[in-house]
Amino acid sequence: MPRRRPECMRRGAAAFAAIGWLAACGPISVSEEQQLGYRFEQQMRGELVFVYDRVVTDYVRELGGALLRAAGPQPFEYRFYVVEDGEINAFAGPAGHIYVHTETILRARNASELAGVLAHEVGHVVRRHIAQNYNRQRNTQIGRQVLVAGASVVGGGAIANAAALGTGLAAMSYLNSFGREAEMEADAFAVETMVKAGWDPDGLVTFFEMLLQEDPNSVPTFLSSHPATQDRIEATQAAIARLPPTGELRRDDAGRLGIIQRRIILLTQQRRY
Ligand code: ZN
Repeated sequence: MPRRRPECMRRGAAAFAAIGWLAACGPISVSEEQQLGYRFEQQMRGELVFVYDRVVTDYVRELGGALLRAAGPQPFEYRFYVVEDGEINAFAGPAGHIYVHTETILRARNASELAGVLAHEVGHVVRRHIAQNYNRQRNTQIGRQVLVAGASVVGGGAIANAAALGTGLAAMSYLNSFGREAEMEADAFAVETMVKAGWDPDGLVTFFEMLLQEDPNSVPTFLSSHPATQDRIEATQAAIARLPPTGELRRDDAGRLGIIQRRIILLTQQRRY
């Protein structure tokens, strides 16, 4: 009896042939993920409203950069983007492209909460959750659609465009659908990294608690892609309790977050009128 070919090879769709490395079935390599991240970022440019104000973007990049320095050497060159959007959300693209919504920055009650969100997203990239989702997607219907969207992103191929099965954002949303285990891993990474960077890791807990208290009829997107459950909060609190004694950890950044929040409100009001 002939050896069955893996599901992703058997399908034999033209779209898969068009993107040879995706059809190879193995986990995507760091360089492949880098290529994908670059293409996704180009796609995002056409689908999202980015904040280009240097004061705002530099603030988020600095916050993210400090977390990365604390995390140690990384295979990816991380980039942080601010997206003008009224929903609380943040997501990680392939290869360390991290996107944070303005509403997330506005709703953070102190800088440690925003640091917690960024550290959590970095955790998904570091633990290769995005790459794993890219592999997992081959076995599902939505996954096939994402693959086609991915093909469009990666190759810009006519086949993918004709299929028109999804947008980069739909693909990104799928790539950010994580299971409980992946969320716990990202939380654990966030706690460890926040402490190394001098941030109080309780910011992650209080941000999730705030999300849980939101009106269930207007559940923030962040909750649907990174469900903040009570057991996750408890696991994070337990991880914090197990930490060895640390130096002084900060929650605030001398009012800088407040300045950035006021600036975002001003910038987005200007755009509306
Ligand atoms: Zn998450």
